[in-house]
Parts: sequence; C-alpha cells; structure tokens
Amino acid sequence: MSECIFCKIINKEIPSQVIFEDEHVLAFKDINPVAPVHLLVIPKKHRESLNDIDVADEALLGHILVVAKKLAQESGIADSGYRVVNNCGDDGGQVVKHLHFHVIGGQPLGVKIC
Ligand code: 5GP
Ligand code: ZN
Repeated sequence: MSECIFCKIINKEIPSQVIFEDEHVLAFKDINPVAPVHLLVIPKKHRESLNDIDVADEALLGHILVVAKKLAQESGIADSGYRVVNNCGDDGGQVVKHLHFHVIGGQPLGVKIC
C-alpha cells in the first residue's frame, strides 16, 4: 500500500508523534486534534476499513481496544471519560482509508449522535 498515508507513517516515511508501538499496532497523535487528547490507534497491516475485517482479525481488534484503554489511562483521561471512534466508509466520514480508531478526550465532548 505504497500510497497509503498511514502505511507511510508506520514505515516512518512520514513523521508522526508516536505514543505507542508494538508488532501489531501503532498509536500516534492526530495531526488535527479535536480535543486535548486525540490519538489514532492503527493496525500495522493495512486494512482499508472495518469492512475489510474478518474473524482472523478478531484478536487484532481486541488488542487495539486494550491499547486504546491503556493510552487513555496514560494520558490521564480514563477517569474523566473519552470516546473511541471508528469512522467507516464515506457516509461514516472516513477520510483516511486505513483502519484507525480515534481516542479522544480531555474535555467534555460534543454532540452525541448515538
Ligand atoms: P477519519 O476522518 O478518516 O476518521 O480520520 C482521519 C484522521 O487522520 C483525521 O483526524 C486527521 O486529522 C488525521 N490525519 C490525516 N493525515 C494525518 C497525518 O499525516 N498525520 C497525522 N498524525 N494525522 C493525520
Ligand atoms: Zn495503509
């Protein structure tokens, strides 16, 4: 996926502020934060969106959520609360077509639509 911007971030071809990394995932600061804490947690293997996930990826998805919780704790927003958001596809508002989960908090968040 040579043209994927998040694959380029994984490969360190584009700089980012990495918060956490292991063999399966990378977490880094969103370049355009919507709240005091705004991280992105992404799988290192390219998956375009949640639509490309199957049962073989169940452990990976679970790991992403465990990492999201750990980073929320380390960022000091676990007790005050936060959102983990996945935008899937065009109607879901997904802009970058590499699966990613936003971890957002540090202030009361805006309008809930669900
Ligand atoms: P989406 O709208 O696809 O759910 O979210 C994509 C997110 O990626 C946006 O919040 C946007 O600010 C972030 N983003 C896009 N390009 C870059 C980049 O080059 N570096 C970083 N750190 N974040 C990016
Ligand atoms: Zn990618």
